[in-house]
Amino acid sequence: MRLLIVDCRFEIENRKSQIENPLPSSAIENQKSKIENCYNCRAPLPPLTPNAQRPATCPSCKATLYPLGTLYDHCQFCNAAQPILPDNKRPSHPCRDCRAPLPPPGQRFLTHCPACRYEVLNVDTYGHRIHERCPRCHAPLPLVLPADPPSPTPWPLNNAA
Ligand SMILES: [Zn+2]
Ligand SMILES: [Zn+2]
Ligand SMILES: [Zn+2]
Repeated sequence: MRLLIVDCRFEIENRKSQIENPLPSSAIENQKSKIENCYNCRAPLPPLTPNAQRPATCPSCKATLYPLGTLYDHCQFCNAAQPILPDNKRPSHPCRDCRAPLPPPGQRFLTHCPACRYEVLNVDTYGHRIHERCPRCHAPLPLVLPADPPSPTPWPLNNAA
């Protein structure tokens, strides 16, 4: 008696491509279990959904919320937290709060002459440089200076000195 080798290949190829993981599985394990607060109004945020997503807006103040891992810096004039997108751009250029112009992340606008400390804000409401040189000592005035790098928390959580 002969055994027939039956080639019973099913079409599983098509199914495989539909079962792909929609989320990159890395970088989500580090979620902290502590309650997070809205970067705008500081109200506690609802817990993340099972796939680590936040609601699109804050339930309290309706500010747009940004994904986990978003960095923040602060308006140097009113201290409001400013989200920074993954491509190092800002979602809006004027400050969300006081509408002052914002420098590139990691920089701050010059407020004093570096040479003589004369108080001179060297930026106009459009973010453009006003003075080439210090009105008092004539030293060249930059538009921006290096500042603290953006941080993953909108404000220091444990700021008790
Ligand atoms: Zn809020
Ligand atoms: Zn501001
Ligand atoms: Zn000066």
